[in-house]
Amino acid sequence: MWFRQSGWRKDFGARRTIGNCLLAGMLLAGAVAFFSCREQMVLRSTPQMSAEQRFMVRVLLADDANHCTVKMRGGFSLLNSDGSVLISDTIFTNRGQPMGVGVMGGEFTIGGRRFATREITILPDEPFTFVMDGNEFRGKLLLKANVDGLTFEAIDIVPLEPYLAGVVGAEMPDRWETEALKAQAVAARTYCLYNKNKFGGMRNWDVARTQASQVYLGLRGESASVWRAVNDTAGEILVCEQAGLPGAGASGEELFPAYYSSSCGGHTEDAKNVFGDSFWSLRGVDCPYCRGVARPDVFFWPMVQFDRRAVTIALQKKYPQLNGLGEIANITAVKQSDYPDFSRITMVKLTGTNGRSDFLRAEDLRLTIDPAGNRIRSVACKIAIIENKIAFLAGRGFGHGVGMCQCGAQGMAMQGKTAGEILSYYYPGSKLVKAY
Ligand SMILES: [Zn+2]
Repeated sequence: MWFRQSGWRKDFGARRTIGNCLLAGMLLAGAVAFFSCREQMVLRSTPQMSAEQRFMVRVLLADDANHCTVKMRGGFSLLNSDGSVLISDTIFTNRGQPMGVGVMGGEFTIGGRRFATREITILPDEPFTFVMDGNEFRGKLLLKANVDGLTFEAIDIVPLEPYLAGVVGAEMPDRWETEALKAQAVAARTYCLYNKNKFGGMRNWDVARTQASQVYLGLRGESASVWRAVNDTAGEILVCEQAGLPGAGASGEELFPAYYSSSCGGHTEDAKNVFGDSFWSLRGVDCPYCRGVARPDVFFWPMVQFDRRAVTIALQKKYPQLNGLGEIANITAVKQSDYPDFSRITMVKLTGTNGRSDFLRAEDLRLTIDPAGNRIRSVACKIAIIENKIAFLAGRGFGHGVGMCQCGAQGMAMQGKTAGEILSYYYPGSKLVKAY
C-alpha cells in the first residue's frame, strides 16, 4: 500500500483547473485566489476531536525532516508523550506567527525554546487546526525524533471524518456529482481503516499524505460539497465476503483495501494481477462508464518513449537483482489479463544485452520508469523497442485500474445511479455497513 498508487493524478482535467486557478492567484495577488476556485466555505471547527482512538488517523506529513514551521490560528498547548500538558502557549512571545521547529540531540526546539523530550504534541485550541509549512491541517501535530536525534517525523493525528474531507476533494473534483463524491468518501474511509488496521501497529503512522496511500490536502482539499459527501456517509465502510480465502474472520466479512484509480480505460483489474492481494470484491469488471467522462487523451493516451539506458539505470537502482542483465535490450509482455476487448499487461520479461532475463510486475515497471505515472498512464498498453528507445503505445486509461474507476463513478452518477449502486458495481459482492 505504501508504494501503491491510488486515485487521482495531478495532470487530470479538474485538478489542472484548480492548479491553474492557484497559479493565476499567486501571480496576481498571492495565494488569495485559491479558495475562490471552489465553493466558498466558512471555516468550521474540527468535529470529533474527542473520537475514540480507533477512529483517529495518524497521517505522516513529513519523514526525516530536520526543520519545519508551525503556526496556529489561536492558542495551543504542548503535550508530553503521556498526553499531559507540558506547557501552554503563553510562554511564547511570537504567538500567531510561524514558529520554527527543529531537533538536536533528540531534543526539540520550538519557537526558539528548547524542550528536553524526544516526542511532543502541539494541540491547537478551537478550531483545532494548525499550519505546517504553509498547509493547514485539522487535528493535532505529533513531532517524534528519529533515532539519529537530528531528524523527526511530523504526524497529523486527526479524526477520521475530517481527515476524509481533506482526501475526497484531493482525489476527486468537488464539482462532480454528489453520488460520485459519496462513493469516493466511502472508498477512502474503507481504504484508510484497512491500512490503519493492517499496518498502523508496525509504525508511528497509519497513512501517508501522498498517492502512496491516498492524497490528503487538509483544508486545501475541503469544500462544502466534499463535507456534504463525508457527512452523508459518516461511518459507512465496505466489507467483502472472504469466506474460504486466507485471513477470513469467523463472520467471513472483512475490511479490504478499497483501491480506486482515475480511469480504467474500459475494464477494471483484479487486484491480484497488480498488487498480489486476493480479495473477492477486487475482481475486474467491465466499465462502460468512464469513456464519456475521462479526457480523450487520457482514455486513449499517446505513445511515450524512454531512453533504454535511462530505463536500465532506473530499473537497476530500484531492483539490484537486474544488474546481472547488463543494459536492458528488450521488454516483452509475458502475462496479460484477458477480458473481452480489453487487456492489461500484468508481467513483463526484461532481457539484457548479455542474453540474461528476469521478470517484473508490469505496474512496478511503469512506476519505476515514470514514478508520477503521468506519462505511462497505465499498463493497458503495448510495449515496443524502437532503436534506442522503449516505447509504450496504444494506451488506455489512467492509473492501476483496480477497484472503483473514479471517472466511471462520475459516469454512473450522471446516469442517476446512487453511491451504493456505484460501490457495489466496482466492488462486486461488497456490503455497505456502518462502522459507527
Ligand atoms: Zn472505467
